[in-house]
Amino acid sequence: MISTRKKDKCSLSDAILKGLALDGGLFVGESFPFINDFEELLKGKNTDDYSSCLYKELAYKTLSPFFKGDEIEDSLLHIIDEAFNFPCPLVSSIDKKAYLELYKGPTAAFKDFGARFLAYSMEAILKKRGKNLTILVATSGDTGSAVASAFYKRDGIKVKILFPKGGVSERQKKLLTVWGENIESYEVDGTFDDCQKMVKDAFQNEELTKKYALTSANSINIGRLLPQMTYYVYSSLVYKSRFKKEPIIIIPTGNVGNATACFYAKKIGAPIKRIVFAENANRPLVDYFKSGVYTPRPSIKTYANAMDVGAPSNMERLLNLYPDFATFSKETEAYSVVDDEILKTIKSTYEEENRIICPHTATAKKVYDEHYKGENAIIVSTADPAKFENVIKKAIGLTPSLPESLTLLLSKEEKYKNISKNYMELF
Ligand SMILES: *Cc1c(COP(=O)(O)O)cnc(C)c1O
Repeated sequence: MISTRKKDKCSLSDAILKGLALDGGLFVGESFPFINDFEELLKGKNTDDYSSCLYKELAYKTLSPFFKGDEIEDSLLHIIDEAFNFPCPLVSSIDKKAYLELYKGPTAAFKDFGARFLAYSMEAILKKRGKNLTILVATSGDTGSAVASAFYKRDGIKVKILFPKGGVSERQKKLLTVWGENIESYEVDGTFDDCQKMVKDAFQNEELTKKYALTSANSINIGRLLPQMTYYVYSSLVYKSRFKKEPIIIIPTGNVGNATACFYAKKIGAPIKRIVFAENANRPLVDYFKSGVYTPRPSIKTYANAMDVGAPSNMERLLNLYPDFATFSKETEAYSVVDDEILKTIKSTYEEENRIICPHTATAKKVYDEHYKGENAIIVSTADPAKFENVIKKAIGLTPSLPESLTLLLSKEEKYKNISKNYMELF
C-alpha cells in the first residue's frame, strides 16, 4: 500500500492497523490487478439464490490479489466467511432497473460490510503479532453502531465509543450502548465536535497512544474500503447475467467511500458501464464537476443525514485515481437531490412499486427517475428504511417495521458511562 501523498509505503496489514498514513494521506493500492475471468465463476450457478456461496467466491477472487504476500493472506477465506455472513440481494424488475440491498447485515446499513471486514482483519493481524489494541470512535449515530457490532467479542481489541449527550436519537443510543464485553460506551456532556476533539487529543498524547496502542476505525481505513468492492463485482456480474447488458450504478454519496470502492471494482474488471454520484443538498461533487475545482464546505443537515458531508475525506483517493479533470468528468456524472425531492421520491416509489426506500436510497432513485429511466441501472440501497422512521412517516404516513436483528438489539439493556469533556476520563 502507498499513501496518496507518496511518503508512506507499507504492507496491507500495517495500513489496516495505521488507518491514516504517516504523511497524512490515505492508503491506496500501488497498482490494481485486472481480473478477466470473473464470469467463469458464475457458470452453472443460480444467481437468484442469495444464500449460495457465489458472493464469497467472487469476494475471494476480488480481494486475494490485494492480500497476496501479506501476513494475513492465509486468513482471507476465514475473514470473508465471517464478515459477509448475510445476504446481499439484487432485486430487479422487468423495466431493467435493480435495487442492490446492502442493508441485510446486523445494523441494517451498508457500513456493516466494511466494519465487519475490518474487525476480522484486525483480529487476524493482532493474533499473528500477539498484540492488543484499543479503538477510539466518536460518533453521531450510525458509524458507531456498525463498528460496535462488528468488533463485539473480537479478540485482542477493545473499543471505546463516544457519543454526545442528547445528540443521538433514543434508538441510536440503544444501538451504541447495548454491547458490553470489549465494547465500552461513553455518553459525553458535550457536542459531537467535543467528542471528536477528545479522540484527537487522546491521539496527541504519546504516552497514552503507546500504553493502550490506540487506533481508529473510521471510513478512511483501507480495510473498510476494499471489502466494499465485492458487492459491486457481485451485483454487476449478476446483473449482466440477467439482462445481458452492463449496468449503470447510481450511488448515494456522502464521504465518497462507497463510490470510490465502485470505481476500484470497475478498474479491476467488473462489468460496469458507468458510475453516477447521487448527493443530497451537500454537493461537493456536483460543484466539482461544474467548476473543475474541488472546494470543501461545511455540511448542512438533510433527511439523508448519513450523507451530510461537505468535505468528503475519500475525495483524496478519487482524485488520486483520476488526476486529470477532463478524463474524470467524461466518465461520470453527479447530481444533487434536495429534501423535498427526497420525500416525493419515497412517496412515488411506494405508490408505484410498493417499495419503501430510505432517504439515502431516495437520492439515487430520484437521479434514476430523472436522468436514466428505462436504462440498465442498479440503484444502490444503503440502509433499511425502518432506521429512518420519522422521514418515512412524513413521506408516506406509515412506520416501516424493523428487521428482526434490530428488534433483538433494541430489547437489550443499555450499559454506558456518563463523562465530562476531559478525555482522561476514558482511561
Ligand atoms: C454512510 C452512508 C452513506 C454514504 O456513504 P459514503 O461512503 O460516506 O459516501 C449513504 N447512506 C447510508 C445509509 C450511510 O450510512
